[in-house]
Amino acid sequence: MFGYIDPHIHMISRVTDDYERMAMAGCRAVSEPAFWAGFDRGTVHGFRDYFRHLTEVEPKRAAQFHIRHYCWLCINAKEAENVTLSREVIAMIPEFLDRPGVLGIGEIGLNKNTANEATVFQEHVDLAMKTNELILVHTPHLEDKLKGTRMIIDMLKGDSRVNPARVCIDHVEEHTVRAALDAGFWCGMTLYPTTKCTPARAADILERFGTGRILVNSAGDWGKSDPLAVPQLVQELRRRGWANCDIATVVHDNPLTFWRQSRRWQDWPA
Ligand SMILES: [Zn+2]
Repeated sequence: MFGYIDPHIHMISRVTDDYERMAMAGCRAVSEPAFWAGFDRGTVHGFRDYFRHLTEVEPKRAAQFHIRHYCWLCINAKEAENVTLSREVIAMIPEFLDRPGVLGIGEIGLNKNTANEATVFQEHVDLAMKTNELILVHTPHLEDKLKGTRMIIDMLKGDSRVNPARVCIDHVEEHTVRAALDAGFWCGMTLYPTTKCTPARAADILERFGTGRILVNSAGDWGKSDPLAVPQLVQELRRRGWANCDIATVVHDNPLTFWRQSRRWQDWPA
């Protein structure tokens, strides 16, 4: 069995059987970024409960299948239009930053590339710099992606405290991957039906840009998505004749290398 990691999946939206199927397909660990709940939460207390879910409930559910569960904390871009609530959530996040499975701040980013989203993004980055946290960045969908990715890279480059090796720009595609890699960031490629990469497109990008600083994830969530998308990419790479060690670099070693920079990281047996 091929041991793999899914570094971006919203297990809160998945059933326990998915953990079992992922374990049987070789999943060893996941990381779950904080995101939208399908509706706008009304108060900071809703987020506090959500962060308890991410740091208490999901790690236990994953452990039943010997999958390690990590998470990222933030208020997502869809809810960032409410700047007052966003500031309350950002002020509350440090309550959770000493919990062992927390990898950093994320998935922060842009959704519709608005001024309020940019303000809340920069205030999250400020928190991450003050607390020495890794950052996971969501880039917008489809027609907003190129402009939003450029805005995000400009904002990150504009903050001299940001070390790009401690930031992952997620949901990159053919037209955004080069800018993120050239600026020194890690990149996440998302295998997701309709709006993001297919396994074949992701394989093409890997063959074009190499395996350095690239992660691959399913972004499984409430929408039509596949928690087994990473093993599907493994199958595609095998079909193309990739060596097992090169496949393992992408689906196992790279996410671990990025995560190991987290100040709370505790290594686990190989
Ligand atoms: Zn996500």
